[in-house]
Amino acid sequence: MNTVMNPFLTAQAAAAVVSCSHASAQALALAQQQRVRAVLTMARARSVVYGERLRGLPDDASALTRMAPVARDELMQRFDDWVTDPALRLDELRAFTADPARIGDPYLDRYLIWESSGTSGAPGVFVQDAAALAVYDALETLRRRPDNSLRRLFDPMGLTERLAFVGATNGHFASQINVQRLARLQSWRASSIRSFSILQPMDRLVAELNAFAPTVIATYPTAALVLAEQVQRGRLTVPVREIWTGGETLGQTARARIAQAFGAEVRNSYGASEFLAMGWECDHGRLHLNTDWLLLEPVDDRQRPVPPGQVSHAVLLTNLANTVQPLIRYALGDQVRLGVAPCACGSPLPSIEVLGRHDDILRLRGTAGHPVALLPLAISTVLEEGAGVFDFQVVQRDDHTLLVRLPEQGELGKQALARCRSALMAFASAQGVAPLRVIGSLGQAVPRGRSGKACRVQVKRV
Ligand SMILES: [Zn+2]
Repeated sequence: MNTVMNPFLTAQAAAAVVSCSHASAQALALAQQQRVRAVLTMARARSVVYGERLRGLPDDASALTRMAPVARDELMQRFDDWVTDPALRLDELRAFTADPARIGDPYLDRYLIWESSGTSGAPGVFVQDAAALAVYDALETLRRRPDNSLRRLFDPMGLTERLAFVGATNGHFASQINVQRLARLQSWRASSIRSFSILQPMDRLVAELNAFAPTVIATYPTAALVLAEQVQRGRLTVPVREIWTGGETLGQTARARIAQAFGAEVRNSYGASEFLAMGWECDHGRLHLNTDWLLLEPVDDRQRPVPPGQVSHAVLLTNLANTVQPLIRYALGDQVRLGVAPCACGSPLPSIEVLGRHDDILRLRGTAGHPVALLPLAISTVLEEGAGVFDFQVVQRDDHTLLVRLPEQGELGKQALARCRSALMAFASAQGVAPLRVIGSLGQAVPRGRSGKACRVQVKRV
């Protein structure tokens, strides 16, 4: 089978996930602490970067909170000293991810590789082995939803579901790779799992979805909103029962509009390139964190702990499943609020709200007379892939003007702006947007680093 999978590890991870799903808080904390110790021991012994970081700290789990947090840029700059397998080299991995023909292919026969998308700064490269993937799979399938409906009773494996993933399909991105992997693993139902690109014109996307007739659509909240408008206009007519969202913050208004338009249930999730399945929503509508396999520490702007109930500036992630590329106290730009009270569903896993992933849908004048919506993820992908620019902010000023802010100045800045302008204009024109004016502002600080995904694509009319 042309994918990274080990049936024994899958079974083992599934058993571990099931045993913690209904465990007491103490048993859960114990499982977490054992894994923390194992990850620290491994990182100390086999990762040069983390070995340096942990030097002089106690040889037990208390070292975790005493270790200084780590940012992605620092780890990426020392990639070959970060990973625990010397066969993994950044220059070779970059060559691999530069080749679109190899999206989702196993690397060195034992790893899956993906790049982060939609974040500022150069993309991170993330390596997963079969053991980490087995954990993500178990969390996804066993925690996603304890569904007791009659439909599920007669169709326990979801064989009659048709899953459409609507997202960025043109790069080595985690979600796309995992949809592809799911289709390969479940080859008997590969024809009922398919990806659809958000970069294509809306008319074509709608036609493709109508032809595929999905019962489940997995996508970003902004994409789900734009598709909901297509349902309301009577153009998109799909037998959808569930909409799975992730990758961006899902607001209450957006959720209600999506659910109402599709007549479907909306299930939100929380994940990242650094840890695919961080949390899923329970039947009481709360996101629960998979804290048997990860630690998430909400912190303020000086990386001091933020108590439950308060909104954090960022979070520090410790991944307890990945041993080939340790992620320990790794700064993620998400703003979160940990729940104070236990959830009524009875889960021992803490609940969390994710707030910091807000970008706007741009609505521009269309050639056909009606406005055309451009998704923030599509804009980001076009600028990253088409213009090779990762630090930017795009602000919509009116229905035909975009302002692009870039940190570079001088000749470099002018060249980057020219690439952004032509990539944006070509993309917008293909979507049916009337001739667009793209103005630039160089030498501008752009939200990045710890503020992560926030505010790269905004509407600010003047
Ligand atoms: Zn709950």
